[in-house]
Amino acid sequence: MAKKLVVQKYGGTSVENIEKIMIVAKKIISYKKKGYDVVAVVSALGDTTDELLGLASRISKVPSERELDMLISTGEQVSMALLAMAVHKLGKEAISFTGAQVGIITDTSHTKARIIAINARRIHEELKKGKIVIVAGFQGVTLAQDITTLGRGGSDTTAVALAKALKADVCEIYTDVDGVYTANPRIVKNARKLDRISYEEMLEMASLGAQVLQARSVELAGKFNIPLHVRGSFSEKQGTFITKEVNAMEDVLVSGVTLNKNEAKVTICDVPDKPGIAGRIFSQIAKNNINIDMIIQNVSRTGSTDVSFTVIASDLERALKTIRKVVKNVKAGGLTFDRGIAKVSVVGIGMRSHSGVAARMFKALAKKKINIEMISTSEIKISCVVRKKRGEEAVRALHKAFALGRK
Ligand code: ADP
Ligand code: ASP
Ligand code: MG
Repeated sequence: MAKKLVVQKYGGTSVENIEKIMIVAKKIISYKKKGYDVVAVVSALGDTTDELLGLASRISKVPSERELDMLISTGEQVSMALLAMAVHKLGKEAISFTGAQVGIITDTSHTKARIIAINARRIHEELKKGKIVIVAGFQGVTLAQDITTLGRGGSDTTAVALAKALKADVCEIYTDVDGVYTANPRIVKNARKLDRISYEEMLEMASLGAQVLQARSVELAGKFNIPLHVRGSFSEKQGTFITKEVNAMEDVLVSGVTLNKNEAKVTICDVPDKPGIAGRIFSQIAKNNINIDMIIQNVSRTGSTDVSFTVIASDLERALKTIRKVVKNVKAGGLTFDRGIAKVSVVGIGMRSHSGVAARMFKALAKKKINIEMISTSEIKISCVVRKKRGEEAVRALHKAFALGRK
């Protein structure tokens, strides 16, 4: 019978120093001893990626994205080699590879590339020799041999994509918390660990700021029905399983509350209120590969109106460059931006069949005198933009209002 194969991903805080790398090496070896073939995906040590981005920003606010990828992909190359050495030290065989070496081919969207194919031959060969295979997360290579990265938190996506390509039996995401909670446990003290959550809800939570998994990794797992197990690197406890929707989930109105502090609001003032203008604005922004999140446009009383939208904060400088041109193009009055915002959201499949969630959310925020600046809804979530400095308080208020805490 073929051996069982596990793909395990270890995040930055799980490999932030040599002591932790040694513990991770022991964990990997314990799976090998249990009879599994093991492929481990690692993130960069601790805050390495932030530090590298910090260096780049001291040179330019808008550095070349190709060079950024060259720079930030180095973090994972350090951790993969150290982890391989740690396994060697403990007497087992391991070999580390960069994304390019194991044929993780991506498109050319630097800093947020998408995986288009994986050639798993090399990994299979090494596993057959009995080795533990360690792969640098977060990175790939284009067909033209340029190194790319997969967006912040992208090692999760590397792990899921490898699990799919290798037909792994298990895909485990090891991190610094014991699983997925009803809210970030660092913000809400009595947040509750979820035993299970559906792909759909997890995708929504991840997209809305629950950093524990990169949204793309959940999207990919859901598409190919790969169950994920999110769990603590330094604990033996069972974590959270992310799977297809199960019946028990339907009784729950709201599954979680999220906070995203990484967006900025841009407002284009005095936009002529004529058909086709919004199309022109947003197509020029899209052409420059800038993702827009919430959009609001006020009713016009004077023939012109303000259009506000949010972008990822790290895209703001690039976005402003484009938007300044757009403002001229559409003969709008001007442009303002605001980095002081946060988005709080409540997520739950139960919202589909229950009403009143929005009212309860707005009431809870009002009770704390937290002003709502923008609102957006979908079938299974409601989001509000509030002042960034009130964001954490808003999360705690909503967590309480929906009675999500441990009893
Ligand atoms: P890693 O380095 O392992 O990839 P991340 O920092 O990317 O770890 O993600 C783990 C962090 O996600 C936790 O430390 C926690 O603070 C945060 N987090 C945010 N929302 C949640 C949530 N709902 N459940 C668990 N963790 C969350
Ligand atoms: N090191 C990368 C980051 O900090 C990728 C990851 O951790 O998943 O975003
Ligand atoms: Mg992460």
